[in-house]
Amino acid sequence: MFGLKKDWSLDLPKKYYTMDDYNGGEARWCPGCGDFAVLTAVQRVCREEQLAPEKTVCVSGIGCSSRFPHYMKTYGFHGLHGRALPVACGVKSRRPDLNVFVATGDGDCCSIGAGHWVHALRYNMDMTVMLFDNNIYGLTKKQTSPTSPQGLATNTHPDGAWLPPLNVLAATLGFSNISYMAQTVDWNPTHLYETLKSAQQHRGLSFVRILQRCPAFVPTMFEAAMQDPDKILLLEHEKGIPLDAGVAKVYKNRQAHDPSDLIGARTIADNTEQIPIGLLYHNPSALVYDDFTTQGMGMSTSDKIEALNRELDRFAIQ
Ligand code: SF4
Repeated sequence: MFGLKKDWSLDLPKKYYTMDDYNGGEARWCPGCGDFAVLTAVQRVCREEQLAPEKTVCVSGIGCSSRFPHYMKTYGFHGLHGRALPVACGVKSRRPDLNVFVATGDGDCCSIGAGHWVHALRYNMDMTVMLFDNNIYGLTKKQTSPTSPQGLATNTHPDGAWLPPLNVLAATLGFSNISYMAQTVDWNPTHLYETLKSAQQHRGLSFVRILQRCPAFVPTMFEAAMQDPDKILLLEHEKGIPLDAGVAKVYKNRQAHDPSDLIGARTIADNTEQIPIGLLYHNPSALVYDDFTTQGMGMSTSDKIEALNRELDRFAIQ
């Protein structure tokens, strides 16, 4: 009677989600755009972790990478410019059971959305935030972004960007109560995948900066680092991103870095001569705002009214 119970009902296997279950259709980015690699990596993470598509939400702002939710067969919210993070915080505060991914670009997050960037990281709600950093505004056709290198000729600065770029890693490490920050590159799919998987597994806001190629407008932006892997500094530690043998073979320039060492992380971030990849900072004990916003969520309507009246009575003037 193998597989059959006494009542003749069958034990059906639990559904196994495949890549197809997360594939939202043909992605319309330019050929060679790094966004494709990130999309595939996220779909692989979802499959690996068997995240139910109906329990997963992708939220974005505005920009090329913000088309991300359209290409995932999950719930999605394509928001306003710079507003991906507050929308994602809103989703998480009412539906803490959902897996939330945020796709935001350097223009979206580090310019118009910078205020939200600071506070969402401080609130540390449980979500995976991917900063697609291609150092340019791609959707609006090559304008200077906060991370454009000084001297880069763009449509807004034809003679070259005047200011040095924002140091995203150093800035993020200055925010209060951050719990996870990593950096990776779109052209190494294994490191990209391992980083996003580690980020998704973290409870709290995991902030991952992804150096992302935009061949349409800045085709040579990361060429030096791609041609010469020694320009990349691979961070390694037993508490860091799992080190794949293939990745270790490519990147010989390595440094042991304990991700709980904030001062060490800041020192690495301040050195703009090299490109660190790996987990710069991890503090699993940072306060998670979900723990506060979910209080009372199971209350019945009458309990809520009673609690509200009790609070209002405190201010009654006798
Ligand atoms: Fe990608 Fe650049 Fe094309 Fe945008 S403009 S889709 S970032 S290659």
